[in-house]
Amino acid sequence: MTEQKNTIYLDYNALAPIAPECMDAALECMRWGIGNASSKHHAGERAKYFMIEARAQVAALLGAQTAEIVFTSGGTESIHTAIYGALALAPHKRHLVTSRVEHPATLQLLKHLEAQGTRVTYLPVDTQGRIDVRQLQQAITPDTALVSLMWANNETGVVFPIAEIAAICNAHKVLLHCDAVQAAGKLPINVQQVKVDLLSVSGHKLHAPPGIGALFVRKGLKLPPLLFGQQERARRGGTANVPGIAALGVACLLAFDTVPLGVTQIAERRDRLERGIVARFPFARVNGGAAERVANTTNIRFGELDAEALLLKLDGAGICAAQGAACSAGGAEPSHVLTAMGLDAQAAQASIRFSVGRYTRNDEIDTVLEILPQIVASLVADAA
Ligand code: PLP
Repeated sequence: MTEQKNTIYLDYNALAPIAPECMDAALECMRWGIGNASSKHHAGERAKYFMIEARAQVAALLGAQTAEIVFTSGGTESIHTAIYGALALAPHKRHLVTSRVEHPATLQLLKHLEAQGTRVTYLPVDTQGRIDVRQLQQAITPDTALVSLMWANNETGVVFPIAEIAAICNAHKVLLHCDAVQAAGKLPINVQQVKVDLLSVSGHKLHAPPGIGALFVRKGLKLPPLLFGQQERARRGGTANVPGIAALGVACLLAFDTVPLGVTQIAERRDRLERGIVARFPFARVNGGAAERVANTTNIRFGELDAEALLLKLDGAGICAAQGAACSAGGAEPSHVLTAMGLDAQAAQASIRFSVGRYTRNDEIDTVLEILPQIVASLVADAA
């Protein structure tokens, strides 16, 4: 991070620091004196210009057509639009398939829908957080309106085989929504090759500000809106957040340029940290370490230490990391992702997620590796 020199920020999965290029894009947009993108006058036209450019940039990152991109307020709204929309498209079907390790943005909506009579199958994962696609095959029934699965897990970074999942859904003629919030910018995504019907992305995981996101809706799918109105060709009502959209466009452009190159560098940083921790603490275990993972995430169980206390001490030393999803952190419940992988409550509560990114430096990783043993020793002493 550039602004707070003493902070070592290893929580990119919660929010990736806003890129200066994205700030500039949003500021430029505001300085230009844009109007409401729906207005017919020239100020409105200026806003439209920013949106056209950004839509093309988002589409390019996903291999989509511009008309397939709907701007939303973020991942949660995109996910809700996809799930509610799929159910509204097939009112006679009342079954959904998902996994036990989805983000709360999906799981809490599904809990709500279950209370209203929708049937949900939650696919289990193995000890490494992997799904068994044969179980997906078996779970799909003629009553299934939608399969909704994440591409990359926010807590462990474990990747689901979305291409294979898409082939299964296509063969069964069942709609597939992919929560790609933690995959976009970290893995190559091409919706022409991987035939998902719907795909969600979120700006603040891509170095744009929070409060902006997008939903890919495959051409020909007449998805009903979640928010009614004329905007986004009646697919998402509400005045467009044009500065946010401009920033998201630039974020996608940057990601498009850096996915291949950046991922190698990011993997090096993550591996340096992960290997360093495992080498220093014989009791440390990488949750999901044997699975395919996105390059930036490591989730480490620190034996029987209390992760919350460890995080507090890390924070005191200027190091930001996380325990589970940012949205559920602070809750007393152990991570649903880790418990689905077979960890008991204590093991889950001894686990920490470090997520690095574009601005993480080797010297920052080395500082963490230097400080951690002192912190762990003090926690062990406190516990004794
Ligand atoms: N899905 C995943 C995998 C996420 O990690 C998040 C946010 O952490 C979301 C969905 C929700 O996205 P947003 O915060 O943009 O609503």
